[in-house]
Amino acid sequence: MAKENIRERTTEEIAAFLTAHGEKAFRAKQIGQWIWQRGAESFEEMTNLPKATREMLAEAFRFDRLTAERTQAASDGTTKTAWRTEDGEVVESVLIPGKGRHTVCVSSQAGCKLGCKFCATGASGFRRDLTAGEIFSQVAAAKREAESRGSSLSNIVFMGMGEPLLNYGNVMRAIGRLTAEDGMGMSPYRITISTAGIPQGIRRLADEGTRCNLAVSLHAAKDTVRTSLMPVNQAYPLREVAESLKYFVEKTGTRPTFEYLLLRGINDSVEDAKALAAYCRQFPIKINVIEYNETGDGAFRRSTERSRDEFIRYLEGCHIVVNLRHSKGQDIDAACGQLAGKI
Ligand code: SAH
Ligand code: SF4
Repeated sequence: MAKENIRERTTEEIAAFLTAHGEKAFRAKQIGQWIWQRGAESFEEMTNLPKATREMLAEAFRFDRLTAERTQAASDGTTKTAWRTEDGEVVESVLIPGKGRHTVCVSSQAGCKLGCKFCATGASGFRRDLTAGEIFSQVAAAKREAESRGSSLSNIVFMGMGEPLLNYGNVMRAIGRLTAEDGMGMSPYRITISTAGIPQGIRRLADEGTRCNLAVSLHAAKDTVRTSLMPVNQAYPLREVAESLKYFVEKTGTRPTFEYLLLRGINDSVEDAKALAAYCRQFPIKINVIEYNETGDGAFRRSTERSRDEFIRYLEGCHIVVNLRHSKGQDIDAACGQLAGKI
């Protein structure tokens, strides 16, 4: 019989399993602590359990363990790790140092279905959803690494490979364990879910009263331009994304962020900034303007500094909050959109 993934089980379910096998139910809490607080990835590590109990558990359950296949360090201190899943997929996470803290960028899927034209993950196709345990593991490893550097892990962003709102259940289960008191105890305010704009996912987040931050990868405020960059815009055009965002803002009272990647001659004119400013009038929003990272096929180019500055100045003139995001880790292809699982 195929073993079950222990990290898919709740503490109550583990307790029920233990009692059914003549073990003490309180051990479920110990097991939970090992898995979710100490990041254990095997039963052998759980040294406060009797050996026989550990062996019995190992007979019934497996861990959806990730194995570090390769770690690369960029000149700015950013590190990218390629993880091998138990079934041989490769996914990547990126640890980004800041002032006295670290941010981890995690993957939610192996590959992505949405095929955005500027994104290396999109070009690599879709393989499968990651499990909640695999998502959790990326964060647990990043936390260990940040702490070993004498720092701490303060922020989590779902901006690695994949579309988190198309793997909703596993992403939310992972966030549940990351934020729970008896889990990793991270604040949801320090977690950002980035989406290409899946309206039903955005509504569901609102309905479930998420306290995580929401980022929407907009990249264009004209449907023709957006569809040419992001095929998903055909299924969910700008108007539908806007409706779901109005709903989100109303329900959660929080202000989402737009990610806007500047591509030379494609979405970076003052005309484009005007369309973006008009779109932004529908709800409270902040904008992160992102500089494009080359992905190798050379289809797009980064905007000139001049058009970038004009673009930003126009938006600021409309009293919109704009941040320019400088990329990190470009020399190791660890920047946004450069994760393709190249091994
Ligand atoms: N699928 C989600 C999350 C992963 S992508 C989403 O699309 O939001 C994370 C961010 O990286 C998105 O804003 C995406 O648009 C951006 N990105 C993709 N390719 C990029 C590139 N080549 N340079 C810079 N950012 C890129
Ligand atoms: Fe998928 Fe996001 Fe890349 Fe688009 S940008 S292909 S949604 S990972």
